[in-house]
Amino acid sequence: TMLSQVVEMVAASQRSRAPIQKLADSVAGLFVPAVIAIAILAFIGWAVWGPSPAFAYALVSAVAVLIIACPCALGLAVPMSIMVGIGRAATNGLLIRNSEVLQVASTLDIVVLDKTGTLTMGEPEVNTIDGLNAQGLSIVLGLEQQSAHPVAKSIVSVCLGRHITPAEVSSITEYPGGGVVAEFLGDELVLGSLSFLKQRRISGVPEVERIGTVVALAVGSAYVGHFVLRDKVREGARETIQSLLALGVTPVMLTGDRSAIAEVVAEQVGITEIHAEVSPEKKLALIQAFQAAGHKVAMAGDGINDAAALSVADVGFAMGLGSDVALESADVTLRNNSLQGIEEIIR
Ligand code: ADP
Ligand code: MG
Repeated sequence: TMLSQVVEMVAASQRSRAPIQKLADSVAGLFVPAVIAIAILAFIGWAVWGPSPAFAYALVSAVAVLIIACPCALGLAVPMSIMVGIGRAATNGLLIRNSEVLQVASTLDIVVLDKTGTLTMGEPEVNTIDGLNAQGLSIVLGLEQQSAHPVAKSIVSVCLGRHITPAEVSSITEYPGGGVVAEFLGDELVLGSLSFLKQRRISGVPEVERIGTVVALAVGSAYVGHFVLRDKVREGARETIQSLLALGVTPVMLTGDRSAIAEVVAEQVGITEIHAEVSPEKKLALIQAFQAAGHKVAMAGDGINDAAALSVADVGFAMGLGSDVALESADVTLRNNSLQGIEEIIR
């Protein structure tokens, strides 16, 4: 259940240790024997050279050294500040899985953001349906019912709204960042982005002028028709990007979608560096390239296509309503789905 996952995440975060905690522990490890040794020396000194009653003075001095030098502050302050930090983050809707985040986040200088479902709401509206009749829609419905991708959910609800019944397609395989492939009455079905169709050598793939995310259908290696969807920019995304820039952090957009729509969204939120039509593997490679160049990189994403990138990033942020594998790979879950949490964690 969702609740048991949250419980498990909190428990894991309490077991995880920030690097500073290890330092505090190793200092405390030397500190304690040193203090005991000094207390013993004080006892011996007062017992041998002190005024009488020598034993009473020696005992009082030894105990005084122990009390004053008690390393409680060192041993307790670090874990306590981490617990309080994680607790305060949780009341703001930010679930931290790994307490190292608290230490690393302040050093971040690049935040990579996924577009669909992260910078945008992930509830795209179907604006155009081109070349797809009732039978085409029924095939699409059969394909997309299985998918958790935001475009799939919107397409499914449009089809259901038109009382379409799903075709019985078989052997469905989803390619994250590309689309879905299946079989129907002996024909191969391909549904996904235009570049995914071209990659699978579909003939007659058109150029689509209209701005938006395109999902196209091919049956038996021939293009049939397409949808154009348009998603709204997430509330507060622009403000978050502005405050990241003010903190000296560079925002970068990564998306599997085509550049025509990526540029429009980037413009709306104020991002200048965009990488469009990137596969999940390329998302991962780009993060590693930034890291190799000496940057500390955070990644924010929601989908299966972001999971690998989330796990290699120095700090991974998953949208709370994102896919399970994204939540599992990230260090911080933004429960309320607001990007503002990224800025809060860095601050
Ligand atoms: P983003 O990186 O912006 O989150 P994705 O990598 O998830 O986007 O997807 C890139 C593109 O691949 C989408 O814009 C869509 O055209 C296509 N696509 C991915 N998954 C599906 C699916 N299940 N059904 C149809 N199209 C899909
Ligand atoms: Mg996404």
